[in-house]
Amino acid sequence: MPQRAYVDGQYLPTADAHVPVEDRGLQFADSLYEVAAVFNGQLLDWPDHLARLRRNCAVLFIPLPQSDAALTLIAKRLIAQSRAADAILYIQVTRGTARRDHVFAPGLRPRLIMTVRRFDFRQRAAQQKRGVSVITVPDQRWGRVDIKSTGLLANVMAKQDARAQGSFEAWFTAPDGTVREGGSTSAYIVKNGTLITHPLSAHILPGIARQTLLRLAREAQIPVEERPFSLGEALGADEALLTSTTAPILPVTRIDGHDIGEGRPGPVAARLIGLVADEIARQTGWR
Ligand code: PLP
Repeated sequence: MPQRAYVDGQYLPTADAHVPVEDRGLQFADSLYEVAAVFNGQLLDWPDHLARLRRNCAVLFIPLPQSDAALTLIAKRLIAQSRAADAILYIQVTRGTARRDHVFAPGLRPRLIMTVRRFDFRQRAAQQKRGVSVITVPDQRWGRVDIKSTGLLANVMAKQDARAQGSFEAWFTAPDGTVREGGSTSAYIVKNGTLITHPLSAHILPGIARQTLLRLAREAQIPVEERPFSLGEALGADEALLTSTTAPILPVTRIDGHDIGEGRPGPVAARLIGLVADEIARQTGWR
């Protein structure tokens, strides 16, 4: 299974792909990224990932030269070359290469990088049955985490902490005690049949899996509330769950060592897992 990369117009084995040491993504995390799921060789929610990448480029004044059609062509070619049925497509756009200076000069050429890596989504089935545990950590990130930048040090340390404690994820808590989101996942609780998640703001990433889950829940007449919830509320919830591109939906059964509800995946999670599976099948044929 060759792992393939695209960088500076070239398709090559990932191990042979390099960027210059003065790339601003490397020196300043002056770069954006996207992660999209590939099921059966088909990209899931692709237009939404493209739209988010473009929105982020606009916010940071990165003039990404490639059209959506060109980005799609590169992604599909890389997926085909990788011969990966189920995979993760990683995209990174850096502001480009320049002599090191915080201030960016006009006219820099953005660098587009893509990689495709095989990914076994079937491993999630066992986690969906069992549920996963999360810890909570104070949110030490900057104030614009709605931008999908590669400045992820706080996320890295939080997730490392979670893993060291045998947990799947770390949930970031705000100074006022509300739960924002996970290190690389969106966070939800369920109370009296209502799905509750933090509203879109500068304090959470607008997750694509979140957007899909909320749409599916509303279509299925499951009540949804986009509002902050406290850690105390989460500990007293009936159920909890998380979503992301690489973990499309997982029940959370323990928070900071406390069982949530019965301590096992609940009925709303089960229903949502079914809806997400149907949506993936509808878009890609994957089951
Ligand atoms: N929140 C954070 C901080 C993330 O890094 C991610 C994904 O990387 C998500 C949420 C989930 O986003 P998506 O559903 O687009 O994968």
